[in-house]
Amino acid sequence: MVGDEETARALLESIRWPAGPVCAHCGGTEKIYRLRRRPGSGIRTGLWKCGHCRKQFTVTGNTIFEGTHLALHKWLGAIRLVCTLQDGATARQLADSLGITTKTARGILKKIHDAVTHALPVARPQDSILRQMAYKRKGSLYPISLNAAVDVLLKVQPARKHPDALERRVAEMEAARRRGA
Ligand SMILES: [Zn+2]
Repeated sequence: MVGDEETARALLESIRWPAGPVCAHCGGTEKIYRLRRRPGSGIRTGLWKCGHCRKQFTVTGNTIFEGTHLALHKWLGAIRLVCTLQDGATARQLADSLGITTKTARGILKKIHDAVTHALPVARPQDSILRQMAYKRKGSLYPISLNAAVDVLLKVQPARKHPDALERRVAEMEAARRRGA
């Protein structure tokens, strides 16, 4: 596993922001400061505040890691495993290795697989056919490094949460426009 939650978060930050934190809202890079977590303050771990737009953000914002209930170091442990096993990790292997339930492990494998499949067409056009096949193999990111895998995964936008609601809203707006015309 990759140390603890704090170490894992620091690794994600160094991969997502190699030149220092970037505001997720306005793209600001100066006047960004870390909000220190104090007991009872309600401040979440890993929270940053932007001095330009005054908004808060974290390294996991708008990524597949956003809002996860699984500790980040367990996430990294899972990603490391799927990078190491040529035939892909099974949910059982993941569960045993990380001390999580098989159900959680299955969910994580699906998230990783969906994200990588989604990222494939655009993320790494320079990759060889062999490597692309490795990406596509279910539950396997072999043979890339943990950092490279995290880099790919951080660039994948999470799936829209309520696509049906959004589509309905667009349809309503279309109908209203037609009525008004
Ligand atoms: Zn900002």
